[in-house]
Amino acid sequence: MLGGGFAGAGCARSLERLLPRDRRITLISSENYFVFQPLLPEVVGASLAPAHVISPLRHLLRRTDVVRGEVAAIELAPSGGEFAGTVTVTAEGIDERTTFTARHLVLALGSVVDQSRIPGMAEHSLQMKNVADALTLRHTIIARLERAVLEPDPAERAALLTFVVVGGGFSGVETAAEVNDLVRGAMKFFPSLVPETKRVICIHSRDHILPELDVRLGDHAQKVLQKRGVEFRLGARTRAASGEGVYLASGELVRTRTIVSTVGNAPHPMLKDLATAVEGRLPTDEFLRLRGHERVWALGDCAATPDGHGGIAPPTAQFASRQGTTAAKNIAASFAQRPLQPFQHKNQGQLATLGHRNAVAAIGRFRITGFFAWWLWRTIYLMKLPRFDRKLRVVLEWTLNLFFPRDLNALALQPTARHGMVHLEAGETLFRQGEPSSVFYVVESGHIQLTRCDEQGCTEASDLLGPGQHFGEGSLLRRTVRATTAVAVEPTTVLSFPAREFGVLTRCWKGLRTLVESTSRRFQPAAAILPAWVDKEQLEAPVSTIMTSTVRTLSPDTQLQQCLRELLDHKINAFPLVGGDGRLAGLVTSTDLFAALRRDVDLQQPLRNIATTEVECVTATTPIARAVEIMRRHDVKHVLVTDDAARVVGILSIKDVLRMVLAAAEQRPVAR
Ligand SMILES: Cc1cc2nc3c(=O)[nH]c(=O)nc-3n(C[C@H](O)[C@H](O)[C@H](O)COP(=O)(O)OP(=O)(O)OC[C@H]3O[C@@H](n4cnc5c(N)ncnc54)[C@H](O)[C@@H]3O)c2cc1C
Repeated sequence: MLGGGFAGAGCARSLERLLPRDRRITLISSENYFVFQPLLPEVVGASLAPAHVISPLRHLLRRTDVVRGEVAAIELAPSGGEFAGTVTVTAEGIDERTTFTARHLVLALGSVVDQSRIPGMAEHSLQMKNVADALTLRHTIIARLERAVLEPDPAERAALLTFVVVGGGFSGVETAAEVNDLVRGAMKFFPSLVPETKRVICIHSRDHILPELDVRLGDHAQKVLQKRGVEFRLGARTRAASGEGVYLASGELVRTRTIVSTVGNAPHPMLKDLATAVEGRLPTDEFLRLRGHERVWALGDCAATPDGHGGIAPPTAQFASRQGTTAAKNIAASFAQRPLQPFQHKNQGQLATLGHRNAVAAIGRFRITGFFAWWLWRTIYLMKLPRFDRKLRVVLEWTLNLFFPRDLNALALQPTARHGMVHLEAGETLFRQGEPSSVFYVVESGHIQLTRCDEQGCTEASDLLGPGQHFGEGSLLRRTVRATTAVAVEPTTVLSFPAREFGVLTRCWKGLRTLVESTSRRFQPAAAILPAWVDKEQLEAPVSTIMTSTVRTLSPDTQLQQCLRELLDHKINAFPLVGGDGRLAGLVTSTDLFAALRRDVDLQQPLRNIATTEVECVTATTPIARAVEIMRRHDVKHVLVTDDAARVVGILSIKDVLRMVLAAAEQRPVAR
């Protein structure tokens, strides 16, 4: 089972009853608890504590192996085989990926929120998808009220006291109602804000709110909420969002500091490649099997399932939990080789709470509004809430709320800042070759040794990185596992950027992207850097076959001015410096000279003052491939060729390599 929501957890619960004990059931979910989403607006309005709308999956499922992990890849096996497919899971704090192979695979990952269609919405709005969202919204609202108390500018105060909810469906309307109750209910504790105008605005693109219900109920809900101060902008499309507020397609700017978006449900990215989506959901047959697969089942918000009455099941909790039960029966039937049962369910009714002991409900032919609808809403959801202890806690909290004011704590949800720093003691490993990659690093102090090993475990390449240098970008850019192992050689502190922040930075900052793209190739083998027509034999040939043997060297005491003249007269880009003993003492390149000129240095200075002393060297027998990899890794255009006594016997420049590439190209058979 992938997903521990209404569909996944519901299916696992039924399977526990239906399958014989020797069958193993595993449920993988990114959270170790089940979220009763319909009660999330109550968390926003401080009517319920967040812990009361969630239940630990391990309490709900007693014989299922619950795995808390993030599904990172799903591979479906061809239909008719013994297995349905494999799932790869990653988990926080564990570097290795775990793979599960399943006889039957249930896809119940729900949907995700995609705000990318409205510019700025992802950056400036809060969502209403999980407990953290609901809690963040509650604390944000209270924090805005606290801020408004101190704000001297009336325009800014007005923006702080304006709360915009985008979307007029169930979650939009219920959220707007709760936000309104919270803001207005809090006023007796904010005496200085009482005279101020408080606005809760619900923006909806259609002409009637609650399109899931009939028009009369939607209109009734609108009137009730308007009476309590909620404003509606109907038939209004949101064009963009920014720090200033919400821009409507009409050109109007609704100034606010709090935007809640309840629109933009999108297919789960993990499921995109598994089948051609129908309205963004996985298509299934009437038995809930993913089209074209006998042992893969898709349920809940992520699936487009025939409802048995000529339509497609809507993405609601009611349908998701029923699908869970039917899928479990069909999985059990398929083990027992019994006929499968088609999914059939008719909407049993819809309820939307309007806060303040008011709601609207459509149950069968009946349309109910007001206190009785609200009582029904609470009673039905209380009955549906899993486990007796949760029910009891919710009843108690609802009862206590009748006598006590709402909770107005504005808890800061961020823990004390840790600045994304990682400290390692000497010899500690930050990551290993082959592990999944999710972080980019910059060395703040100390040194990190990066090493890459071949299949036999021999070190192929290594690099020592010091303060200001970065690593980890290659695998993030290429979305591959780590190509190297990173170990601290001394007490070291590195700054870490999670993949998401790294992705945003490199998308927006072109210079950074160019830099990391270039450095990300530093560990690539020569075969990946050079064109395919340069064959392996040429790459394995010794450097001596293509190097320049007549090397013009200079003394470390040569003046800069003289070196410049040599450079221009002989069109040479790099001069090895050789001391009196004939040994290599450094290297000066045209880049070093140019940098010195820019610093306005004295041209009478000796070259030793600007030379690079840590020079990359190879021997005459080093394979060309190795020399090319060294140039790439250290981003240099020359390597010096020395003998055992550190005497310069040649120089290999990028031009020599290009000459070899050109010769290889000219020897290629001409394509007809
Ligand atoms: C605010 C709000 C109010 C609502 N009110 C109502 C209502 O009144 N009535 C109603 O019928 N419906 C309501 N709904 C809709 C209802 O909650 C959903 O239709 C229902 O939750 C769908 O169930 P599901 O199991 O398909 O998905 P979900 O309940 O969303 O479960 C998805 C599961 O997949 C897991 N998951 C996701 N990605 C990964 C991953 N990569 N790796 C591992 N696990 C993953 C999640 O942790 C979760 O456990 C509401 C929804 C919201 C947001």
